[in-house]
Amino acid sequence: MKKWYICPYCKKKKLIKYSKDAKSQGIFLLCKNCGKEVEIKINNKE
Ligand SMILES: [Zn+2]
Repeated sequence: MKKWYICPYCKKKKLIKYSKDAKSQGIFLLCKNCGKEVEIKINNKE
């Protein structure tokens, strides 16, 4: 099942979709709603 990574600043814009076993760091996306650069941090520890 995939989840949406929501912008942590405005909490409105869906930035990217990721699966539950995804891992990510050092990836930046520009939120088109609030204009901030958001680092996508996904770390699922099992
Ligand atoms: Zn935003």
